[in-house]
Amino acid sequence: MIYFDNASTTKPCEKSVRYLNEYLTDKFFNASSIYKQGIDNKTAITNCKKLIAKTLGVEFKDNVIFTGSATEANNLAILGSVRKNFKKLIFSAGEHPSVYNTALDLQNKGYNVEFVNLNKNGSVDIADFKNKLTPDTSFISIMHVNNETGAINNLNELISIKNRICPNAIFHSDGVQAFGKLKFTLNRDIDLYSISAHKIHGPKGVGALYVKNKAKLNPIVFGGGQEYNLRSGTENVAGIMGFTGAIEEINYNNSIESIKSYIIENLNPNFKVNGEETSPYILSLSYKGINGETLVHMLENEDILISRGSACSGSKVGNRILTAMGLDKDSVVGSIRLSFSRYNTLGEAKIVTQKLNDFSTKLSNL
Ligand code: PLP
Repeated sequence: MIYFDNASTTKPCEKSVRYLNEYLTDKFFNASSIYKQGIDNKTAITNCKKLIAKTLGVEFKDNVIFTGSATEANNLAILGSVRKNFKKLIFSAGEHPSVYNTALDLQNKGYNVEFVNLNKNGSVDIADFKNKLTPDTSFISIMHVNNETGAINNLNELISIKNRICPNAIFHSDGVQAFGKLKFTLNRDIDLYSISAHKIHGPKGVGALYVKNKAKLNPIVFGGGQEYNLRSGTENVAGIMGFTGAIEEINYNNSIESIKSYIIENLNPNFKVNGEETSPYILSLSYKGINGETLVHMLENEDILISRGSACSGSKVGNRILTAMGLDKDSVVGSIRLSFSRYNTLGEAKIVTQKLNDFSTKLSNL
């Protein structure tokens, strides 16, 4: 099998599975228990938080909260920050549904919510961002890397604009497709940053939110007061340890860039790349006149797994993001997404490129 759908989820690495196993069996204890086994597990959790802070390049000050997914981390970031007196909330039109639909819900509840347009390269339109920000903006959420196109938003630039226009606004970024993939130091003016274990060879069902100032956040899940009272629920020690294993194995020196560039250089030129200066991990393509879904299934028959767009948005995949970047209907219908991991090889890229060329020619001649 060739697996080119790593933006959807990744195969857990050996170390992640080993830690998961260890903490599901021998070390199954409740991290809130006051005997040694519980305390040891709490320490293991804290060590994972320190590792996350280190990977982000921020100081660790009990400022990482584990959640049951990045979807939940995004919900916590937004709904836990929002206050009745918030004047204006800004989101990008390219956000993942876990941010986008939360924003729509706030809009339905009467908040002043605005969406910033995307450029044709898939990132946030800076001029529109500047236009939409006003001194009374209270909250901003702009993702780091888009999950459908790999478009990268320049968070440093966005933060410096925000600091000029509305320095007190809270700034959140969904970092799910950036963390552990792009090498960066988190801008110190970012207030909230969400990540997910299963996108970097860790287990599903484990997310985390970096929180610069816990005092500004309210819980959205109530209960026993775990995670500094910001996310109650018995800690998922095994999952968190699986996350630790995945983070310990992060390797920025890999050959992913060459896989992506091989495909781009050798594909039938009727395939257009959606987006510019995108993450090496994601390649969004459109071929006008063929149906991307058909292509996905033709490849599936050859044991090659790719995606039609975001796995999270079902049959309407790709539409919102690609349309927001200005793609016409035929390009949206003809879109596919390939996404890579360090386990992929150039040999696999060669096979997939050949198959894409063969199948697209067949389909376009129908
Ligand atoms: N944000 C982005 C950009 C994603 O790609 C995903 C996963 O598809 C999520 C959030 C949600 O992550 P999780 O599956 O951990 O809820």
